[in-house]
Amino acid sequence: MWQLLLGLVVGLVLGWWLDWYLSRQEGASLREEMDRKNATIAKLQKELLTSQKEAEPPKRAKRTRPPSAEKTEEVVQAYCVKCKEHRPMNHPRRVTLSNGRPALKDTCPVCGSGLFRMVKM
Ligand SMILES: [Zn+2]
Repeated sequence: MWQLLLGLVVGLVLGWWLDWYLSRQEGASLREEMDRKNATIAKLQKELLTSQKEAEPPKRAKRTRPPSAEKTEEVVQAYCVKCKEHRPMNHPRRVTLSNGRPALKDTCPVCGSGLFRMVKM
């Protein structure tokens, strides 16, 4: 009698296990499919993003160029003590101070007084 019961129990357990195993397998294949779908979606999003990035550069190129071009043509400005304003040095002369540091000297184009400016080494 107990053998029959055991057989029944084993059969039930086996049935449950098979059910569980099959559902797990299904779940795994489902997950795999989802992963594949997610991957394609991610790929599409990436492609969209890169195409958007490729469309952007013209704006950035305009922004990044000016600074380097301006630096070479920059007019040296010096503070005029008489005008109490910054004036451009039209003909700056390079001089060396007593402490050995270089400086620029010129005359103010407005009032004619001396302009002086330290130069970065
Ligand atoms: Zn001046």
